[in-house]
Amino acid sequence: MGRTNRPVDAKVLGLRRRDNAPYATAMLGPMADLPDLLPLADAQRRVLDGVSPLPIETVGIEEAGGRVLAEPALSALTLPVWTNSAMDGFAVRAADVASATSARPVTLRVLGEVPAGRAPDQAVASGTALRIMTGAMMPDGADTVVPVEQTDAPVGASEVPAMVAVYAPTSAGENVRWPGSDVAAGALLLDAGRSCDAAAIALLAATGHGSVRVHRRPRVAVISTGDELVPPGSPLGPAQIHDSNSYALAAQAAEAGAEVRRLGVAGDTLAALLEMLRGAVAWADVVVLSGGVSLGAHDHVKAAFAELGDLSLWRVAIKPGRPFAYARATVGDRTVALFGLPGNPVSVFVTFELFVRPVIRRLEGRPQAFDRPTRMARLTQPMRGSSGRHTIARIVLADDPERPDSLIARSSGGQDSYMLGSLAKANGMIFIPPDADLAAGDEVLAWELRARDA
Ligand code: AMP
Ligand code: MG
Repeated sequence: MGRTNRPVDAKVLGLRRRDNAPYATAMLGPMADLPDLLPLADAQRRVLDGVSPLPIETVGIEEAGGRVLAEPALSALTLPVWTNSAMDGFAVRAADVASATSARPVTLRVLGEVPAGRAPDQAVASGTALRIMTGAMMPDGADTVVPVEQTDAPVGASEVPAMVAVYAPTSAGENVRWPGSDVAAGALLLDAGRSCDAAAIALLAATGHGSVRVHRRPRVAVISTGDELVPPGSPLGPAQIHDSNSYALAAQAAEAGAEVRRLGVAGDTLAALLEMLRGAVAWADVVVLSGGVSLGAHDHVKAAFAELGDLSLWRVAIKPGRPFAYARATVGDRTVALFGLPGNPVSVFVTFELFVRPVIRRLEGRPQAFDRPTRMARLTQPMRGSSGRHTIARIVLADDPERPDSLIARSSGGQDSYMLGSLAKANGMIFIPPDADLAAGDEVLAWELRARDA
């Protein structure tokens, strides 16, 4: 660990002469007005600053999956609503069966039965029983349920017997579910900010919520830029490559919970870019664009952003992902976040994780903008950092064979920003601080990106 800090100079800016000697600062010419690299944490703070949850809407409970509650959910009901049986069996008086044994069973007269969905039409008196199903309403007079297995009645579908022999006692209250034993009327069920996962939806539905108040889903428009791009599935002509970024970004945005539109590829002119961007901001809350953001002669993203909104930052001290632009545009009463991600596919993936995903989550109303689980892991090989920038490295996390409940991390392969093979192999990322190298055995903080068996 521990390369020396150095001031931002031509070398840090990535400018090298063919003979590999660094340019002298005086030779920078027009590059001299490049902004300083913004530290990662500052850039993240600035991107999230002022982003607040989208407006509230009411959606049917069947549409609520993955949405985030905008208001606390309260219960209008007690759960259970009424006293019911926890067993298939016979509703009886505990006093009647107190002496029952298999050698000396207690025999009761069966008055009839209480099926699910029908209120009992008679009460249980001493010496009698009502056959009852799980979840059916307890009849008056009964205070416990003898499970069918503790009687001589046949298990499963059968006629209601006239008499039943009970082989074991059950005490008063046993096998009975009381009103309010699960949820009290007026109780806070779920806090605002809670995601409607399956458990939340079960509770909301059970307490009678036919609809829920949630934040609107963020709308994310995805644009690729570059005259070299053709869609996957189409043959490649000379000097062409397949557009992978817009498909990857659409998948990342959908995974983050957004409603996504892929708008396609804008050619490398400012006019083409502006036309597609105007269409995007008319619909989207977030526009994610890749390519055309660096210093190339045909890179028009920053100019297009400046035309539509305020270009508030670009160039972040990370590797990969240094060329990165962020702007906000106001369209009517809406604010649209514009992200200009680098073109290289790994830079796209990483900068989405670092900047776009947190913004989507904030718009959705989730309390935590940053949600990836972090773990400490022991590095099994040295990994190089870079001067002046955080290096985000793709890694494979695995169980440590030497230490239970601990993880080891190794590089998932080549770390250049065009290398997708090692991105797909990775299940995590680590952050190597600026001007540092890591040694084998170093403990590192890793983000888990997916389940380790996925
Ligand atoms: P740029 O910043 O536009 O110069 O792009 C940097 C690199 O990323 C170049 O190698 C591009 O060909 C590549 N690239 C840009 N956009 C895409 C895309 N949508 N899919 C795959 N590669 C891309
Ligand atoms: Mg390009």
